[in-house]
Amino acid sequence: MQHEASQQIIREFKLRQSRQLLAIPLTVLLMLFLALLHKRPDLFGELPRDMITAGQLAVIAVFVVFSFVNWRCPACGKFMGGDVFRIKCKKCGVRLG
Ligand SMILES: [Zn+2]
Repeated sequence: MQHEASQQIIREFKLRQSRQLLAIPLTVLLMLFLALLHKRPDLFGELPRDMITAGQLAVIAVFVVFSFVNWRCPACGKFMGGDVFRIKCKKCGVRLG
């Protein structure tokens, strides 16, 4: 039973990790895209600087909120911090991979 439970935690962790690994490049890409919009007004027309800044802040905010919800230990529910490739939860010590 103990083994089944830890398999379940590892599966759940892998799912959260893949979501996180998808969200990071997506956020970077959106930021680059917004920076490009600012640098190349010939592409989509001149956009107000405030609008681009607001867009970038929104992208960051969405990423932070997403990580806050997603990037939690499947066992203890604590936020897992900066290391996406951790193999153990710092808080409860459960094995994650
Ligand atoms: Zn934990």
